[in-house]
Amino acid sequence: MGKKNILVTGAAGYIGSHTAKYLLENNYDAVLVDNYVLGNVEAKDELQKIADENGAKFKAYNADISDREKMNTVFKENEIDALVHFAAFSQVGESVIDPYKYYINNTSKTAVLLDIMRNYGVNKIVFSSTAATYGEPEVIPITENLKQNPINPYGQSKLMIEKIMDDAKIYGLKSIRLRYFNVAGASSDTRLGEEHRPETHLIPNILYSALAQKNGENGKAFKIFGNDYNTPDGTCVRDYIHVEDLARAHELALKKLFNGGETSYYNLGSNSGYSVKEVFDTAKKVTEIDIKVEIAPRREGDPATLIASNKKAKEELGFEPHKTLVDMIQTTWNWIQNDKWKKH
Ligand code: UDP
Repeated sequence: MGKKNILVTGAAGYIGSHTAKYLLENNYDAVLVDNYVLGNVEAKDELQKIADENGAKFKAYNADISDREKMNTVFKENEIDALVHFAAFSQVGESVIDPYKYYINNTSKTAVLLDIMRNYGVNKIVFSSTAATYGEPEVIPITENLKQNPINPYGQSKLMIEKIMDDAKIYGLKSIRLRYFNVAGASSDTRLGEEHRPETHLIPNILYSALAQKNGENGKAFKIFGNDYNTPDGTCVRDYIHVEDLARAHELALKKLFNGGETSYYNLGSNSGYSVKEVFDTAKKVTEIDIKVEIAPRREGDPATLIASNKKAKEELGFEPHKTLVDMIQTTWNWIQNDKWKKH
């Protein structure tokens, strides 16, 4: 049997590119689909090199997942065994201000993508879902059977996709939804990293402030969004997972589907959390820079604490994260200082 060929949507984005890299390095072929609204063409070029080095087949398409004409071409030109679907917007704050953007881009377009898959008889998908589908959880750590009750349109847009995937069982669709907690870090060989424009995530934001200070630039204190939450130090607590650990989890989910696994869903986290202040203090140690900080108002849509129970993923996928918070901060620091793609 030949290599499995995986269509990765959003593969020029942050988590998508790291997952495509992992697949290409681990005996899979891959097809990239990205509309480059947020994706980086440099990630696509790097993936091509990685594919060549690993003797893997790799094809890339500039296409929107809901563009039936272009997607028909993708499915006709390639024998696709399964999808890993990342392509989406993912900023909580933006989703509160512009919810239609999220419902159209994330939910509606995924419904079209699933319909296209069905037309081509492809019935396996690993889906990039989120801890934001749980909302403000009543119990910590969060287990997969807790009620999903999102408090922002981003989480809602992803939950709706999960529900569509439930209904799509009637067509024979088998889906594994991976509910990510907070993803951070860059590839340890510094070939890929996080390049969002604008960057909103905690670890890169702290480190961009550190970098500005290192370069002798003025201002740009890092802002802590709220220190009056009901948590031990008043700042939000999150469960951070390294993007390379996360990438590996996708391959385990694919394997499960190829081995006849049924539709299911898993939290991907570490069973422990760090507060914004703790992350900030760790970043000061890693960078050896006394990063400027100020307290800012709360950001809308942020739950106080999100920590994953990772029991189900451990038992059923054999997945456990290996990397630490220091690894996440160090690899991000290496990446942004390198500024390989000259975006900053
Ligand atoms: N955060 C912060 N300052 C920043 C960016 C994020 O205080 O510049 C906080 C944010 O309010 C949240 C946590 O850090 O409590 C993680 O936010 P991030 O955007 O990284 O991930 P999210 O939890 O939204 O997925």
